Amino acid sequence: MRAVTFQAPGEVLVEEVPDPELQHPQDALVRVEASGICGSDLHIYHGRTPVERGFTIGHEFVGTVLAVGADVERAGVGDRVLGCFHTACGTCVACVRGDYHRCLRGRTFGHGKMLGDLKGAQAELLLVPAANLTLRRVPEGMSPDVALFAGDVMGTGYHAIAHAGTRAGDTVAVLGLGPVGLCAVQAARASGAAQVFAIDTVAPRLALAETFGATAIHLTEEEPKRIVRAATEGLGADVVVDAVGGPTPLELAVSLARDAGTISGVGVQAAPGEVPLGLAWIKGLTIRVGLANVIAHVDRVLAMMSAGLLDPSPLVTHHMGLEEAPEAYALFDRREALKIVLRP
Ligand code: NAD
Ligand code: ZN
Ligand code: ZN
Repeated sequence: MRAVTFQAPGEVLVEEVPDPELQHPQDALVRVEASGICGSDLHIYHGRTPVERGFTIGHEFVGTVLAVGADVERAGVGDRVLGCFHTACGTCVACVRGDYHRCLRGRTFGHGKMLGDLKGAQAELLLVPAANLTLRRVPEGMSPDVALFAGDVMGTGYHAIAHAGTRAGDTVAVLGLGPVGLCAVQAARASGAAQVFAIDTVAPRLALAETFGATAIHLTEEEPKRIVRAATEGLGADVVVDAVGGPTPLELAVSLARDAGTISGVGVQAAPGEVPLGLAWIKGLTIRVGLANVIAHVDRVLAMMSAGLLDPSPLVTHHMGLEEAPEAYALFDRREALKIVLRP
């Protein structure tokens, strides 16, 4: 089969690789119909997330089940399914507490040996371990473009808002308006946030956030802190979402948050970095960071998307063939595309 493989920083290839086969009673084999290119793939593309040369990448997918192991109960051959970006065992100490994102045996699709040595979804076929937890059936009438978001990007946007304990009437500021940040804007609105500020430098992304009901703020041409303070009687935002990663947005997040507010960081932290802890302490902030618990959220996210409360479809700017992956990665890296859907 054909698959997109990482070669070196700035270089991916479409290669012929061996077909995957069922290995375990809880495995499913999926024919991929659509896969997404994600901001997390850019960390791989730039060499920030180490992945072996020739490893198949990609972790967002929709497809049809071709075969299942004897212990797969929740999906059957012929079902159209969507996947979560990682697997979980369901029985370890983390899983039994519902912390699937910290599963001791969890594996992330398309992230190399360090994250479980599980081949990625930017391919014609995909082996899905722990299929009972990892897969969901695509709800009746839902397009593949929408379903593709449930197990990663929208799940992460939802997590950023839910994990912060956002309440109806809150003011939320979202830093970074890639697909994750834009989904967090939608999730904030859907959870009853009274005001949502959306901060980035990319004009089309700022404009899209406005169509989702946010007030757009240009990171450098405007003054985010002054604007958020002015709109909140000088207090700041109840919840600040970091959908960028790295230390820089966290510094702004600390300054935008109101006293006793919450910072919810879903942007990847791949290296040590400094956060203004003194100011965070004085303000009494709660800081919650880490991978999104998408397996815990995916059914609610699907329900909200089915009901039209969340709608990621405006985020899909490009459909491209799997063989166009090198061009697609370059396009996404230049921020000329928002969500690229690859079709094998
Ligand atoms: P993306 O690269 O498409 O978007 C990032 C956006 O941030 C861009 O629009 C960029 O212009 C903007 N930006 C850069 N620096 C900024 C700053 N200082 N302030 C404000 N905006 C800034 O990425 P994405 O796909 O939307 O993903 C966002 C982050 O979330 C990435 O780090 C990704 O790896 C991560 N992620 C985490 C999880 C999780 O489970 N926690 C899941 C999916 C993605
Ligand atoms: Zn992703
Ligand atoms: Zn587990």
